[in-house]
Amino acid sequence: MGELRIGHGYDLHRMEPNADGPGRPLVIGGVTLESPVGPVSHSDGDVLLHAVTDAMLGGAGLPDIGQLFPDNDPVNAGRDSKAFVRAAREQIEADGWRVISLDATVVLERPRLSPVKEAIVSVLVDLVGTRAVNVKGKSHEGVDAVGEGRAVEAFAVVLLER
Ligand code: MG
Repeated sequence: MGELRIGHGYDLHRMEPNADGPGRPLVIGGVTLESPVGPVSHSDGDVLLHAVTDAMLGGAGLPDIGQLFPDNDPVNAGRDSKAFVRAAREQIEADGWRVISLDATVVLERPRLSPVKEAIVSVLVDLVGTRAVNVKGKSHEGVDAVGEGRAVEAFAVVLLER
């Protein structure tokens, strides 16, 4: 076994109605969920992929997602966040790292994540390059902004080896 590191990532997006904006469609882990509200974001606002990107970069000691993909760069406007994970993977692999495992938690009041959890896991398996991927969905018990459906958040932990 080589050198091991843990990486942690966190993200939160405010949610707003998305029929006519300002919210975007609710995309989590590359999967679109039926929802009248969605993230306000420069990119597609995929809170889980942003947390995963930061976990990978953080574990490898690289600059974070906001430094690598600035939210004032027109290139990133509406961008599919899978591109951020792919770029993070390229960067960590360039330093000799690979992802051994990924465990993530999405905190979302509604809709429930369970119907799309397997689809999200298979997106992540492809993106990060390990089959050891786990995703959990939690509610926020109706309290605070996340519990009131005004925000969505995600936490991700990865184990890296080189
Ligand atoms: Mg984000």
